[in-house]
Amino acid sequence: MPELPEIEHYRRQLGQWILDRPIERVHLANKKGTDVSPEEFSEALTGRSLLFLERRGTFLIFHLDNGHRLLIALSKDGALYYGEGEEKPPFAAQAEINFGERTLYVAGKGSVLRLMTVRGLDEVLKTIGPDPLSRQATPEYFISQLKKRRSALRNALTGQKLLAGIGPRYADEIAFTAGLLPSAKAHELNGESAARLYEAMESVLNAAIDAGGCITTPMSADDTVTGGYLAQCRVYEREGQPCTENGALVEKMDVSGKKAYYCPQCQHEQTAVFS
Ligand SMILES: [Zn+2]
Repeated sequence: MPELPEIEHYRRQLGQWILDRPIERVHLANKKGTDVSPEEFSEALTGRSLLFLERRGTFLIFHLDNGHRLLIALSKDGALYYGEGEEKPPFAAQAEINFGERTLYVAGKGSVLRLMTVRGLDEVLKTIGPDPLSRQATPEYFISQLKKRRSALRNALTGQKLLAGIGPRYADEIAFTAGLLPSAKAHELNGESAARLYEAMESVLNAAIDAGGCITTPMSADDTVTGGYLAQCRVYEREGQPCTENGALVEKMDVSGKKAYYCPQCQHEQTAVFS
């Protein structure tokens, strides 16, 4: 499932390729992917170019040269591919946006592509919390918000209200890096634990972005970066495998009906304080 690092990786890569080139053709294979007809969708985009690519949480936001926005929200199985000439992606594309020599392909049956006004987009963005990499997401904000949440740390991280863009994979990796159990109650974390959780959040997300995230589908024919963080995951979907720190076996627990992966030796209710 694409989370913040995967989408930020896409944003950085695409920014090098698709800005300031007019869109020549648009094909929407999945009519359910947007709220207008495929013809209207194509008409609104053809001839336009993109000035800027923004990301908020897991939303990829294309700024069009007429002031409007194209929002792309990838589904669980979503991915992007950038093909040259006649080259096709390794998946059935739900949408294709052609920039002349190259074409952007969007995968994922439930992926959404929506044309929006700035105001319409603001309404959508209001429903989610600040982006973890934004100036709003300070340690003070994060720690004070954790104190207000009676839920498990895992749910506070994945809820999209405290911060937008973190899903199950990175929530588990962040909890591991902070040495905290995914089931630890957010409001019960002491100052040291909350501060460690914030640091872990920043370091895990940045490392994952730099390593290309965890989507296994390459982004282009010569792409060797995408998915590079998969080999660096410490606990997520590693049940029964040895912890990279101490060899204890990674376990799975249920947190409010969701699976969470953790190391029973490295992770605790509070961060261990070393003196
Ligand atoms: Zn461990």
